[in-house]
Amino acid sequence: MSIVYDKAKRLIYQNRSRNGGTKLLVRAREIEGSDKILRLYTTAKGNHLAEIRGSTGERYEVWLYSNGTVYCQCRFFGDLEPYQRQAIGCKHLLAHSLRLLKKKAS
Ligand SMILES: [Zn+2]
Repeated sequence: MSIVYDKAKRLIYQNRSRNGGTKLLVRAREIEGSDKILRLYTTAKGNHLAEIRGSTGERYEVWLYSNGTVYCQCRFFGDLEPYQRQAIGCKHLLAHSLRLLKKKAS
């Protein structure tokens, strides 16, 4: 379980410290504070799923896996290099991470 939270924190940290990454994090905060996070679900194996609505109404499955890897169905994520996907993520993964950490703190 804590691997997922560590990963969430690391994704946010990476996007804070990277040049140009702040924009991604700002957009993630907007998503996190909106009704675009449609559903949150944790599997028996501790994988965390968020369903997030995109800007044109599409739905993305956004995964924070218990082994510390991440996945999102959006095109931005798909276009990243494999190592960037795991290190930087996308705004949906950041929004998922922000929500997860907020829930944990409350
Ligand atoms: Zn995404």
